[in-house]
Amino acid sequence: MTTLVWCQRELRLQHHLGLQMALKQPDLVIFSYFHDPKLTIGGTESANSLWLAKSLQALQTDIQNLGGAIWIHEGDFAEQFTQLLKTHNITEVIYSFQPGEPFVTQQNLALQICQTHQVKLTPLYSEFLIEPSRFSNQQGKPYLVFTPFYKALMQRQDQCHTLDAAIPDLKATAQIPVPESAKHLPQSLQALLQKPWAQKLLAHWDISEAAAWQQADSFLANSVQNYDTDRDFPAIDASSRLSPYLQFGQISVSGLFTECQARIANGSLKAEAVQPWMRQLVWKEFARHLLCWFPHAETQPFQAKYNAMDWADADENTQAWQLSQTGIPIIDAGMRELWATGTMHNRLRMLVASLLTKNLHQHWLLGKNWFDFTLFDADPANNVMGWQWVAGCGVDAAPYYRLFNPVTQSVKFDAEGLYIRRWVPELKNLSNKAIHAPWEHTQECQMKGIILGKTYPKPIVNLAESRQDHLARVQSLKTPI
Ligand code: FAD
Repeated sequence: MTTLVWCQRELRLQHHLGLQMALKQPDLVIFSYFHDPKLTIGGTESANSLWLAKSLQALQTDIQNLGGAIWIHEGDFAEQFTQLLKTHNITEVIYSFQPGEPFVTQQNLALQICQTHQVKLTPLYSEFLIEPSRFSNQQGKPYLVFTPFYKALMQRQDQCHTLDAAIPDLKATAQIPVPESAKHLPQSLQALLQKPWAQKLLAHWDISEAAAWQQADSFLANSVQNYDTDRDFPAIDASSRLSPYLQFGQISVSGLFTECQARIANGSLKAEAVQPWMRQLVWKEFARHLLCWFPHAETQPFQAKYNAMDWADADENTQAWQLSQTGIPIIDAGMRELWATGTMHNRLRMLVASLLTKNLHQHWLLGKNWFDFTLFDADPANNVMGWQWVAGCGVDAAPYYRLFNPVTQSVKFDAEGLYIRRWVPELKNLSNKAIHAPWEHTQECQMKGIILGKTYPKPIVNLAESRQDHLARVQSLKTPI
């Protein structure tokens, strides 16, 4: 009897329920990752694919150092999966369920193939704190608002998964010799790692399970107590920067919860200091539950009336937004941080998304797709929820009349322009007053050698007029059609 532990986004050895379960049985175990270049997030040249390459490489090294083996298959998922089941007489496949694409497509294919070949398929929900089908409100319906979801989850913490940190003896995964074709990182991922742009992006990160825990440890020891007060200020390094590790399962929400609780219990962390951050982790759980209940939301608005929204077509404004040439300094700073590092501060994500959907009237999917391509942490659930929330069409969304004014926000959250100066150096000599809206300070710009429209763009949109336009567009949706 041979069990396949099929790994999708649990690229770790600690807190790995599938591996622990399989390795307790007397059966032979194959631990596999399937890379189908047609089933990626953001395409084969996306930041997400790059992180995948690096994290798979790190996992392979870790498992080999412990005497185990991972098989890495490249090619059409259905073909590769079927071939493995048949060649090795697999009797059971264990995997951890993931919402959103490309996982749903893969999981559906796996189900069909296992049914055809009469192989037992065991889905786990270990990447959730609690299984979505076991967590609904008193009417048996999914929670649509975050705060009640959070409160209910906190009350039912005893029912949440607590994963075991112990790494099982991995030697059984090396009993069947790994075929030559599955021994190495796939060609396409190896080639990606060699690209000069990839190396520049990777220079900002250390990508492995151990690095994820070092990052968590350093955050919990040094920054978490100031998280609530500092997290909205993009110039301060106040958040955990754990999202890409979480997206790839190099660290899990459940593992982090257990760690926080252990530190509270041993007195090294105060509960009230860590709670705001743990609450933020629950947003990820909320987004994942929503996508399980409403899978259509990956491409369609949660609020159906937004189907009738008259979104503008992609045009030169979309490009200016992508290329950080909007002429609005805080927006360009955020988009440049994204391009250079593969991440963007949460406040900036809200601001750039609001500008694109509410001032430039462009479809939230355009923005979501750009984030899929550029973000290391691009995640089907969080990305969709973030975009739909800002665009106003999500569950529990920002009200339609709430537009972020990027200038006011810039003054509030980057008063001295430290973040702007870091990412938009052509404006670095402007005063704290002028840096947020240079077009209102043309004299100072001239004095400092900044020519709007030449050395830095003029704003591509009139914020006040486009705000009125947005309100009119949404109000027209209220009329029954
Ligand atoms: P911390 O502030 O340290 O928070 C810890 C963890 O909690 C994060 O790593 C993340 O997993 C979770 N979390 C925090 N805030 C949120 C939130 N608002 N929603 C859901 N989970 C949250 N996050 C992604 O992981 N992937 C995405 O693709 C993504 N796209 C977004 C798109 C938009 C338009 C917006 C507004 C937000 C998006 N977010 C996304 C949420 C959030 O911006 C990031 O999770 C956060 O910036 C990551 O930084 P951090 O790890 O330092 O977070």
